Amino acid sequence: MVDVRVSTLERRRSVQRGFTLVEMMIVVAIIAMLVLILVPNFVRARAQAQTASCMMNLKEIATALELYQADNDRYPTASNQPLDGSDPNLLPYVKQVPVDPVAGPQAYYEYTTRNPGAGDASYTIVCPGSHDPATLAKFAPNTTNRHVQYDSASGFGAAASQ
Ligand SMILES: [Zn+2]
Repeated sequence: MVDVRVSTLERRRSVQRGFTLVEMMIVVAIIAMLVLILVPNFVRARAQAQTASCMMNLKEIATALELYQADNDRYPTASNQPLDGSDPNLLPYVKQVPVDPVAGPQAYYEYTTRNPGAGDASYTIVCPGSHDPATLAKFAPNTTNRHVQYDSASGFGAAASQ
């Protein structure tokens, strides 16, 4: 009799070892929920960081244009001039040619100057990358444009194309 009881206990223990199907399904469901919550947040944070980095690049180019203006009493005459490794106007004033975080190193920021030598001289710089419009909401609410633009007269905005 004693032997039979022990063997029943052992059998019950061996049945309880490991996870049941329901327990496994609960664990998988919890992991799936975490992934669903976290992944969109990571994607959004990355897009926002790219836009912030692009704005800093535009500011760097704007600073270079101001330095050029201080040395030459005029802005460079430029129409959609790409800021590549050989741009003669701005290279003395930028340590490194800034690269758009979205478009990568093969596309260049472009600048256009208006009335370069006149009293109402101004300029526009447009980024080559296609940003998430939701990340441009700070300076361009409800826009569907994807290119960050900096205008010396009106500040940051969103452009439809470069
Ligand atoms: Zn950009």
